[in-house]
Amino acid sequence: MPRDMERFNAWRRARRAAGIDKRAYVSAENRRLVMAASGGGCSYCGSSDELQVDHVVSVRLGGNSEPDNLQVLCKSCNSRKNWRDAGW
Ligand SMILES: [Zn+2]
Repeated sequence: MPRDMERFNAWRRARRAAGIDKRAYVSAENRRLVMAASGGGCSYCGSSDELQVDHVVSVRLGGNSEPDNLQVLCKSCNSRKNWRDAGW
């Protein structure tokens, strides 16, 4: 097995142990609610380009997948936010 694959599997096991995958899961119902509440636009810039449901407080930082902690972002705002959440 390639080294990277071993590291990936270790990371995946650690995530599962921390319950992160479970907290990251957004149900279809919550996704629908958040999309409906957004009015069809990104929470940051209002764009309707490739909208994605995002965790306001990232799961890695303790956020959950309840509607209170979800927002709709376009693809470019979401990727910018992900870099920031990762500390870059
Ligand atoms: Zn945006």
